[in-house]
Amino acid sequence: MAAVLQYPHPVSPGPGEVLEIAPGILWTRIPLPFRLDHVNVYLIEDDGGWAVVDTGIADDRTREVWRSLLSGPLAGKRLTRLIVTHFHPDHIGLAGWLCEEYGLALLTSQTTYLGCINISLSPGALEAKPYRDFYLTHGMSDETASLVSTQGHNYLRMVSPLPLTFTRLVAGDVLSLGGRKFDVLSGDGHAPEQIMLYCADDNIFLAADQVLAKITPNVSVWAIEPEGDPLGLYLRSLKAIERSVSPGALVLPGHQLPFRGLHLRCREIAAHHEERCALVLDACRNQPRSVADIVPVMFTRKLDPHQMSFAFSEAHAHVNRMLKQGELVWAESKGDVRQFIAADS
Ligand SMILES: [Zn+2]
Repeated sequence: MAAVLQYPHPVSPGPGEVLEIAPGILWTRIPLPFRLDHVNVYLIEDDGGWAVVDTGIADDRTREVWRSLLSGPLAGKRLTRLIVTHFHPDHIGLAGWLCEEYGLALLTSQTTYLGCINISLSPGALEAKPYRDFYLTHGMSDETASLVSTQGHNYLRMVSPLPLTFTRLVAGDVLSLGGRKFDVLSGDGHAPEQIMLYCADDNIFLAADQVLAKITPNVSVWAIEPEGDPLGLYLRSLKAIERSVSPGALVLPGHQLPFRGLHLRCREIAAHHEERCALVLDACRNQPRSVADIVPVMFTRKLDPHQMSFAFSEAHAHVNRMLKQGELVWAESKGDVRQFIAADS
């Protein structure tokens, strides 16, 4: 049988609509003011109400969407608790407001909670000179470096203050929601300790942003961990997902459409990164390169400064992976910009 992705729902819920994607699990979409223009939110039947998975960003439009969901398709049932998959603003942004407004407990990983709190305690910390220098020594332009260094402030514009307490979810936990039991999984690479939920009895996997149907999740090196290997951690997580979750599971991801064909998709994404690594290696044969030189090798379309910041950090993830594996080695620097070369040059 041909292994193809199957979409149980060719249509997605429109603004303010909910679709029952599986018995007792509702799917809705919250609009985002980005190129990726929505985040998927799931509601899981729980003790006569709905447990919420993820929130959208903290802005008036998103609050309005939630109010109209609760006075419209969700009317008559209460929200029971809030599960947040990871610390990115489109997933955690409105957590503080939802918990406060509807009296919900927040359930998430420790890293998600503390990571979000950490940015709010010191949003300007990313502007520190060593962080900025890190980007410049890898060839990033001043303009993009300025954009990256102010992202702590941008983050907080999209995230409402978190509740002062949370309930920790840890990989290996079993979370009971309504009559269902969900295994708690976590994975790194896209965001540290991102939470995923798997109901083996009903073969349903809430994948958060770890596995998406059509796009590959962003995997980035950040200045706070310059030698980090998020791509290695991400690929390890894809393997762990294949070991833990049935290939036939209905996958409910954080963006785009639900799908089946999880193992195939994990392998496609892994192969995509292997191809990218091979391209990078080719570009570094007999030719020292910087991370900035690698960006157009991996991303051929024209990038605005915002896209450039993501592309740069994603290129960096491939470079760090290959340095760690010994496929790339540091070369003598050209001026202030660090360079590396293929080890087999
Ligand atoms: Zn994300």
